[in-house]
Amino acid sequence: MSVPFTRTLRFKIRPESDAWLNAAAVEVNAVFNYCNQISVATATRTDRKRKWLSGYDLCTLTAGATEYFQHIGADTIQRICVEYAQKRVAARRLKLRWRVSRGARRSLGWIPFKAANLKRKGSALRFCRKTFRVFERERLEGVSWKQGCFAQDAVGDWWLCLPVEVSIEQSAAPKASVGIDLGIKDAAVTSDGERLEAIRSYREAQHRIGALQRRGHVRQAKRVHRRVRRRRKEACHQFSRRMVNTYQKIVVGDVSSLRLAKTRMAKSVLDSGWGLLKRFLQYKGECAGRTVQVVNERNTSRSCSSCGALSGPSGLRQLAVRRWECAHCGEWHDRDVNAARNILRAGSRCGTSVSGNESSPVERPPSQTSVCAR
Ligand SMILES: [Zn+2]
Repeated sequence: MSVPFTRTLRFKIRPESDAWLNAAAVEVNAVFNYCNQISVATATRTDRKRKWLSGYDLCTLTAGATEYFQHIGADTIQRICVEYAQKRVAARRLKLRWRVSRGARRSLGWIPFKAANLKRKGSALRFCRKTFRVFERERLEGVSWKQGCFAQDAVGDWWLCLPVEVSIEQSAAPKASVGIDLGIKDAAVTSDGERLEAIRSYREAQHRIGALQRRGHVRQAKRVHRRVRRRRKEACHQFSRRMVNTYQKIVVGDVSSLRLAKTRMAKSVLDSGWGLLKRFLQYKGECAGRTVQVVNERNTSRSCSSCGALSGPSGLRQLAVRRWECAHCGEWHDRDVNAARNILRAGSRCGTSVSGNESSPVERPPSQTSVCAR
């Protein structure tokens, strides 16, 4: 069985187009802010013309606006209107935040387009009478896109984002099930003893980032940040892919990274990327037809996975205990592997997920699978 889902391809745009894109982004902001303003004004009228404007209404209102703009065209304006209306409905707000074009609180650039606006021209791309070149253009071969956008990251570089439909072959995994303990020393440890090392890169990079910021090299500091984020994401991608390819059922503890992020260990927590890992496991598992279950991880590091006695280390103070011997049955345990085994057992004990997070490909239509980066 094959399941279709959307993944977004990202291409870095060569920097010679940055000036054009920056100018176009200012025009996009103008359209967006016009939508915001007119929507609020229409929704708060006191007479009988009061109305909650739809994307279609906004398109009608902005018809002919292209003559005021030098970069963007009618299709882009329509996409902004539609996206604005969708965002406003999703946010359930009278108005959205303004898009800021200048100054320190500038919004990151965003230029949406329809499929027909972006055309291939030799090895380059054409958009609004402007030629673009991207890095790694060989990845574009054979790709057909519906719509997409140009988006700017915090460093200031521009990216071409193209959501494309791909279909995934579903097949049975070679092994039955696995429990995964999310930790701080290792980001994740499985009940079979496999480990994903925590990427301590933020800590390591922190020193450099601080030094760069003090010297006023803001852009470079942001670039180091971006590299760290990317490395962490890559590690999570690889680990989750390995899990999904190997196991039919995956059980994860429900550590709340937000709760722990407020404690003293905040930096390690944010560093280890639990949230990312859980999300990746969930959507990849869903696409591949696996069962991903989230269980309450209470007592999982305290109880012995062989006899069930609460003889293990507990509390924040005993986090340093890596190996321990069960006082009941005399079994030696690795702290994290033991916890992972308990998580796996908790997963098989309760048929349905504790937090209702269980996902199965049968119950959910493929249209609901999340949009993913890979
Ligand atoms: Zn025991």
